[in-house]
Amino acid sequence: MKRILITGGAGFLGSHLSEKLLNEGNEILCVDNFYTGSRKNIHHLLDHKNFELMRHDVTHPLFVEVDQIYNLACPASPIHYQFDPVQTTKTSVLGAINMLGLAKRLKVPILQASTSEVYGDPEIHPQPEFYRGNVSTTGPRACYDEGKRCAETLFFDYYRQHNVDIKVIRIFNTYGPNMNPKDGRVVSNFIMQALHNEDITIYGEGHQTRSFCYVSDLIDGMVKMMNSPSGFTGPVNIGNPKEFTMLELAEKIVELTGSRSKLKFQNLPKDDPRQRQPVIDLAKRKLEWNPKINLEEGLKKTIDYFAKLEE
Ligand code: NAD
Ligand code: UDP
Ligand code: UDP
Repeated sequence: MKRILITGGAGFLGSHLSEKLLNEGNEILCVDNFYTGSRKNIHHLLDHKNFELMRHDVTHPLFVEVDQIYNLACPASPIHYQFDPVQTTKTSVLGAINMLGLAKRLKVPILQASTSEVYGDPEIHPQPEFYRGNVSTTGPRACYDEGKRCAETLFFDYYRQHNVDIKVIRIFNTYGPNMNPKDGRVVSNFIMQALHNEDITIYGEGHQTRSFCYVSDLIDGMVKMMNSPSGFTGPVNIGNPKEFTMLELAEKIVELTGSRSKLKFQNLPKDDPRQRQPVIDLAKRKLEWNPKINLEEGLKKTIDYFAKLEE
């Protein structure tokens, strides 16, 4: 049994990770400031004897005793990370410094939830880990993209300078139950709109692509990375390489919900990446990880979750 710190543990991914690690017999210390996360996501864990919740902002130092650290704290959807962009950069950068300082003092492994956004609007397709990215330093997405890039830099400097056992994964678009229905991400928007027979809001012409990973697959990859041999630092892409246009996604969701919704085209947000697809050879080879749940199967589970929220 390990004592495991999960920052951002009340968020979408953090709540799934907490549940999996608890079920495997570990003790979980969930640290969250509830900026985008919710008590509802972890409500069913609160009475578990091995689950502890601490309200804390990772931009401030944290002195606790744990055996592993998963650093997930950071708003992840564009509307939330752009609402207070200075706080977003602070969370990524100061949060990384504090959690790395903690890992250094305790001499324990630490995993960083980095992102495919470090590739920006990619000029090579699909994206392997060695691609250095095409990111604006000044645009509206920069607080998130550059914050996450700087966090990666800090991780690799703590590894080289202080010998911290780091693990960096680059997460591609992930979806599933416990996504915040109002957080503006495409899967939650389209499902909520379809369930209400409202117009489906396609930004731009809908030809931009994303590759969607179901949450259980993503969490499996994350835990495999944490438990990989010390010295395997990554960065490793974790995502489902099957790529879809936003039009294809909208059509699939309308079909699966039997909705009467129509498509409505709106302006494309500034700096919106045109395409995104992970190369996952490294994760396959080093972690023996492969996503198992296809889009239709994952969407059905996610639609069921959102439909129940409405009841
Ligand atoms: P989320 O917004 O649901 O969860 C983030 C959690 O962090 C929330 O519970 C929030 O309250 C908490 N948080 C934010 N700022 C904090 C702070 N300063 N101190 C303490 N807690 C704070 O997002 P998610 O989808 O679960 O994402 C989790 C992590 O994975 C993030 O770091 C995100 O960047 C990364 N990621 C997610 C995706 C995805 O598709 N979901 C893709 C790439 C990377
Ligand atoms: N830190 C923390 N918890 C710890 C140890 C360190 O939050 O258990 C913070 C500490 O406050 C510092 C940061 O992590 O701001 C970086 O720590 P490090 O030891 O690398 O730097 P230093 O303390 O030398 O500035
Ligand atoms: N998008 C859309 N309609 C929406 C929300 C998003 O067409 O209601 C598009 C958005 O412009 C982007 C893609 O869907 O091209 C994925 O957006 P999301 O915010 O989910 O993730 P990210 O852009 O961070 O990959």
